[in-house]
Amino acid sequence: MIIGVPKELHPGERRVALVPGVLPSLTKASLEVVIERSAGGPAGFPDGAYVEKGARIATSRDQLFADAEIIVQVRCPGAAKDTGHTDLDFLRSSQTIIGFSEPLGAPSMAYSIAELGVRSFAMELIPRITRAQSMDALSSMATIAGYKAVLLAAETLPRMFPMMMTAAGTIMPARVFVVGAGVAGLQAIASARRLGARVEAYDVRPAVKEQVESLGANFVELPIDTSESEDVGGYAKAQDESFLQRQREMMARVVAGSDVVITTALIPGKTAPILVTAEMVEKMEPGSVIVDLAAERGGNCALTKADKIVVADGVTILGPSNLPATVPYHASQMYAKNISTLLLHLIDNGTLTLDLDDEITVGTLVTHDGQVVHPRVKELL
Ligand code: NAD
Repeated sequence: MIIGVPKELHPGERRVALVPGVLPSLTKASLEVVIERSAGGPAGFPDGAYVEKGARIATSRDQLFADAEIIVQVRCPGAAKDTGHTDLDFLRSSQTIIGFSEPLGAPSMAYSIAELGVRSFAMELIPRITRAQSMDALSSMATIAGYKAVLLAAETLPRMFPMMMTAAGTIMPARVFVVGAGVAGLQAIASARRLGARVEAYDVRPAVKEQVESLGANFVELPIDTSESEDVGGYAKAQDESFLQRQREMMARVVAGSDVVITTALIPGKTAPILVTAEMVEKMEPGSVIVDLAAERGGNCALTKADKIVVADGVTILGPSNLPATVPYHASQMYAKNISTLLLHLIDNGTLTLDLDDEITVGTLVTHDGQVVHPRVKELL
């Protein structure tokens, strides 16, 4: 089978779906890889590096789509708002596409893909089970976002992160508060600690306390009942407005005392909860920084504007929506490992073989045989 890797067209997207390093594992499984010219360039992978590992360079994008039976992308049409629809013209019945596709945020695109007879797998839907860990692209990208959020905060803050005792006086460490200690939050805690900050963190899932403390941060205890906050999949459940109101009231003191607040709180498939209000921002010291990693889903701070720098009462609020694309080399390396592991899971004897009893296959399959087949996406439609 031929696997095609198109260049990503979404503005600012510098990642690529496969890197040269994973090609030997694919060619060993009798897969041929075709790359669109310069697809890996923005991530630091020149065409020659792919050719060295056995890939072919396609003469054009339409040639790539014509040749490939499986297209692997970072952003499939559903996840490439302005540019994704252009690829619909290239896709054909019985072709398969694999990548991020926001099936829960853009279910109508899943419908268009199904109508074309194209089979699609969404990387966002990889089940969070041990067996699928090396395919878990949400986790690998969240790791990068958590790390980069800290660097952005450090760059923007008019203070240094570490404590320093110098002849010119003692510099106190920056105080960083991380709200939401999932994959991105835990990486933000670890990165801020490495830079020498004093870190506090809060999450509605009480199970996280131990992980926060093991990274050298303090877990902020809020006197609200969170015993029912986690679902069976390990995700946070949506909280009602009265809970969030109490949470905001109790967090206000910690937010006001922090130089940096990094928010990562999300509920799968929902708009992000507002956890930092304009009044809470007003009480922060001028020069403080908020990095809102939930910006793409509406933001955890009421003042966040996705991909804009907002300055309110002297506080800078950043809402970067695609931090992994700002670290494209390693983001692509990790994503390529996730994609190639899924590919090898789906391929048997060189051909795509769907085991519809397999949790990973069924959990990720969005369209098949001209239908939207994923129950959650079907429900949204
Ligand atoms: P996520 O991106 O959906 O949410 C980020 C964090 O926000 C979560 O920790 C969540 O509890 C928190 N949150 C939600 N509402 C909040 C609120 N009101 N206040 C404070 N925090 C709030 O989550 P994620 O990072 O993708 O991971 C969620 C869980 O899945 C974690 O337990 C993680 O360990 C688990 N996980 C398991 C696997 C695996 O087993 N293979 C892989 C990845 C993640």
